[in-house]
Amino acid sequence: MDLQTPLMYVKGVGPARAGLLEAKGLSTVEDLLAYAPFRYEDRTNLKTIAQLAPGEMATVICEVAMTRTAKLRGKMGIFEARFHDSSRAILLGKWFHGDYLKQILVPGVRVALYGKIEIDSFSGELSVMHPEFELLGGEEEGDASLHLGRIVPIHEAAGRITPRVMRNILWRILESLQTVPDPLPEVIRERLRLPDYATALRDLHFPQAGEDLRLLNSFRSPAQFRLILDEFFFLQCGLQLRRSKVRLQPGIAFELNDRVREQIKAMLPFKPTGAQKRVLGEIAKDMASAHPMNRLLQGDVGSGKTLVAAESAIIAVENGYQVAVLAPTEILAAQHYLYFKNLFHKLGYVVALLTGSMTAREKTKLKELLDAGYIHVAIGTHALLEETVSFRKLGLAIVDEQHRFGVMQRLRMMEKGVTPDILVMTATPIPRTLSMTLYGDLDVSVIDELPPGRKPIVTKNVQADRIEHVWSFVKREVESGRQAYVVYPVIEESETSALKAAEKMHRHLSEIVFPDLLIGLLHGKMAADDKEDVMRRFKRGELHILVSTTVIEVGVDVPNASVMVIEQAERFGLSQLHQLRGRVGRGASQSYCILVTGRLNDAGRERIRTMTESGDGFYIAEMDLKLRGPGEFFGTKQSGLPSLRIANILRDTEILELARREAAEFLERPPSEEERERVLNYLRDHWQKRYGLARVG
Ligand code: ADP
Ligand code: MG
Repeated sequence: MDLQTPLMYVKGVGPARAGLLEAKGLSTVEDLLAYAPFRYEDRTNLKTIAQLAPGEMATVICEVAMTRTAKLRGKMGIFEARFHDSSRAILLGKWFHGDYLKQILVPGVRVALYGKIEIDSFSGELSVMHPEFELLGGEEEGDASLHLGRIVPIHEAAGRITPRVMRNILWRILESLQTVPDPLPEVIRERLRLPDYATALRDLHFPQAGEDLRLLNSFRSPAQFRLILDEFFFLQCGLQLRRSKVRLQPGIAFELNDRVREQIKAMLPFKPTGAQKRVLGEIAKDMASAHPMNRLLQGDVGSGKTLVAAESAIIAVENGYQVAVLAPTEILAAQHYLYFKNLFHKLGYVVALLTGSMTAREKTKLKELLDAGYIHVAIGTHALLEETVSFRKLGLAIVDEQHRFGVMQRLRMMEKGVTPDILVMTATPIPRTLSMTLYGDLDVSVIDELPPGRKPIVTKNVQADRIEHVWSFVKREVESGRQAYVVYPVIEESETSALKAAEKMHRHLSEIVFPDLLIGLLHGKMAADDKEDVMRRFKRGELHILVSTTVIEVGVDVPNASVMVIEQAERFGLSQLHQLRGRVGRGASQSYCILVTGRLNDAGRERIRTMTESGDGFYIAEMDLKLRGPGEFFGTKQSGLPSLRIANILRDTEILELARREAAEFLERPPSEEERERVLNYLRDHWQKRYGLARVG
């Protein structure tokens, strides 16, 4: 057996279990070894039931004495099991909908129970709700000493493969593995005094007696530290290599002459802020260099990124190149189209919109024009990335809202031009360490200043049953010449139900609440033309209120709109709320954001309070990241966020920082050419699989 052995051939696994593991992305021995326990239990000095205290998290070994299913007003069955042990005390275990446990927790069965010890409010007994448990002894395979009398790893179950079975399999693997080559360069291992790979793997799954449980459960045992470092080290090596490779590629050296400057001046509708000027300077320098630009432009909503993007586009067009602007949604593409067309009108540029919902004829026509070089600035969604789309001379690609575009798409974009310059814009303020991991191959520019005269947006929380007050407020604002948005959340996958809610509300508002006002409806299922039409009318002030599903989340720009009403605000993520709020407060007048919510739980109240108290996108993003975790925050798979196994970007930032320095040092001064080759080979073999990234360079 070696690291590449398929799990199917490991004794005790077989095809059925291999299938379950495969579903978790675990196919080889190496994969399973990287499947770290999420928690450890100290089963060496266990307490008896009599020694348990309410409030503590505890593991007890005990035996089922009796069980019953209690019916709560005939509604839901609560399965109760009473456990006892040598201390003769009784512990009550309770499970809602636990009737199926009748067959498993039969009297006489010995278990290890883990959970929070409480006093049952009905019976006053010592109790534990929904404890995790593990059946002990008897028919189960494997060595009992793996499961008791030691620090026991708890792995996440994979289908029917319980933590106990997982432990048996891993033990067997670790027993029969001969030599395991250490992927981490020896210099680093020695300098940081890290355990070798084989030892680290063994201690990860089966910690030595006497290991500190608190360290283990905070992922800081020497073994865990080293394996986290490994993962970050290779990730960083890959990103840094890719970055240096791109930098060495020949790119376009745009000329920054007086004509470019004059055209920019002619286009600008207002004086750029200091931050905008500085950032344009950074971009222009990249564009003038003979190597491709790969720059990330960060800035809070409304900070004026799009304007800077437009300035960059002028540099490309005046040099005889075409520009592609990629947006994540059709609405945003349409919005950008209007914005750029308006700005470039004076310069005589041809601006075109290409989206998936256009007819085949329209698309064909546009593609021809694009290929002939007649279109200067092409704006679109993913449709712009299709194989059949070709540019005559693509010089600059502007990608809006990077977190929705994967790495693959970025590369596809690069393949469309010689090597066009790439400018990525994002309004999601990402803590610095994170942006280095996510975009380790990008340079970062930050617009940290809002255009002048912006008043902070007043944010209020209103209970749904007081919505009438909100409507009268909206009415007053509209009467004084302002406009308003009313937004509905798209819940889970179901765009349809949000759509229905929005349609219903549109009817309700236009017929009953505001019969005198003009109210538009916007949602993701509309044809591109219709969307564009509604948005144009709202922008021109021909509609007073725009009812919409979350599609307006990013990028809509109507400075006269001063009210943002968000229905069921508790269903949105914080960053999303912040983005939505950023749709108002773009003009000179005072703007308002009203978060309409149902009854809130503590977490919900905390989130809404973050919104009413802060307008700082950076702070809000950090809170969001904390409350939701990195996976959800970045929208998981499509985000281009590497799928890490042991490491966790949030928890392990300081190890990430260390890994970044080690990787830079190693690549700059490898101890030997062989060592460097070895690391590169390891990366080649693991890049796609371990880190889910497209390719090294
Ligand atoms: P972002 O893309 O960063 O969300 P936009 O580029 O859409 O921001 O700009 C937000 C609003 O601010 C737009 O109405 C834009 O025209 C306006 N704006 C941008 N830069 C300036 C500036 N320097 N002075 C005044 N208004 C500006
Ligand atoms: Mg924008």
